[in-house]
Amino acid sequence: MSRKVAGPEIEQLIQLLARLPGLGPRSSRRAVLAMIRRREMLLEPLSLALDDVAQNVRECPECGNIATGELCGICASPRGSATEICVVETVADLWAMERGGAFSGRYHVLGGVLSALDAVGPEALRIPELIARADDGAASEVILALNATIDGQTTAHYIAEQLEPLDISVTSLAKGVPVGGELDYLDDGTIGAALLARRAF
Ligand SMILES: [Zn+2]
Repeated sequence: MSRKVAGPEIEQLIQLLARLPGLGPRSSRRAVLAMIRRREMLLEPLSLALDDVAQNVRECPECGNIATGELCGICASPRGSATEICVVETVADLWAMERGGAFSGRYHVLGGVLSALDAVGPEALRIPELIARADDGAASEVILALNATIDGQTTAHYIAEQLEPLDISVTSLAKGVPVGGELDYLDDGTIGAALLARRAF
């Protein structure tokens, strides 16, 4: 049986960090050592920041983005246009679109896509909320920025059908999004180009 190098608290920290995407046990150990070496500069501020986020993080009731206030930073901002709503699958996709810097409207995070295989129906996603937002009169265009997977496109068609009775233009990103590709993995320029070249859905 191997001996534990550090105390149980540190072992637990290493194990928790190792569960994060992109980190394995090896980089987790390196990260923990780096934090402990820089206790005041890194470990203590990080601990406070984690605690703060853990206490305050919630879902933006308007768009589904992550928020720490009543609304997320985008919905709370007076900048940008409220007439365009860009529909994305995940918060990571929203952040990717926003990094692209080509879109100045609002977002709507579905929280996934319809999936017969995984029994995900419309009510499990934020689709009813989207229809309600689109119907409240402020929006003139809904841009579907869903991934080019089969489930993503099935979901896009379903949403377009639901929006059909409303006097609202429904568009989708141009074919810049590769099949099976996820927005989060696209470079920022590609997202911007796909947005500019969007077409009626
Ligand atoms: Zn929001």
